[in-house]
Amino acid sequence: MDFAFERSRTAELAVAGEDLLFPVRRVYCVGRNYADHVREMGFDPSREPPFFFCKPNDTASVVACTSGVARIPYPPATRDYHYEGELVVAIGSPARNVHAMDALQHVWGYAAGLDMTRRDLQVAARKAGRPWESGKAFDYSAPVGALVRAPAVPGIGSASLELLVNGTPRQQAVIGQMIWSVPEIISRLSSEFELQPGDIIFTGTPSGIGAVTPGDEIQLRIAGLPALRVQIA
Ligand code: MN
Repeated sequence: MDFAFERSRTAELAVAGEDLLFPVRRVYCVGRNYADHVREMGFDPSREPPFFFCKPNDTASVVACTSGVARIPYPPATRDYHYEGELVVAIGSPARNVHAMDALQHVWGYAAGLDMTRRDLQVAARKAGRPWESGKAFDYSAPVGALVRAPAVPGIGSASLELLVNGTPRQQAVIGQMIWSVPEIISRLSSEFELQPGDIIFTGTPSGIGAVTPGDEIQLRIAGLPALRVQIA
């Protein structure tokens, strides 16, 4: 049987130092997972737990960045285009209703990623009680650096995260400051969805979010992972 047109492909992430690609299945994101970021968004972290949302998994949404500076276009329909620097977790085996104690065995690797956000559209949707897709799930909204296999970064749970715009530090945190740790994220997510190899999870951003404009260069450094460098075109 023929297809009516060529099937669209999913994104493929590079693996650092290997001739290997990681095919992306689903893209999950955690919202409000660092207390200082919850406060800067105007919420109380002691009253509202983190939550999940999704982005499309296609190559238009997830931009696989290897080395050098990747260029992504400034998106349409926004006047407040924000970076959010985040640790990305890549799932390597099926996981359903897993306990947090057993969750890390399902992690294939880690990468640095940017949850790019049309903040004006996200806030408008939130105020109207509408879904977040216009603010979060647009084209080129998820640049991801090269993956590192989990055994190569045993200290990732306490790694430092730093995001710079044009060389100026904007976000600084330690992964251990997350409200839900990586094992807790996987445990909770696997109680709502069946996780499969290829699923990736953006684990939330610390405080210091802000807008970028064409020409700006974002650099995200997470200790133990290749730096992610993205320029807004
Ligand atoms: Mn985010």
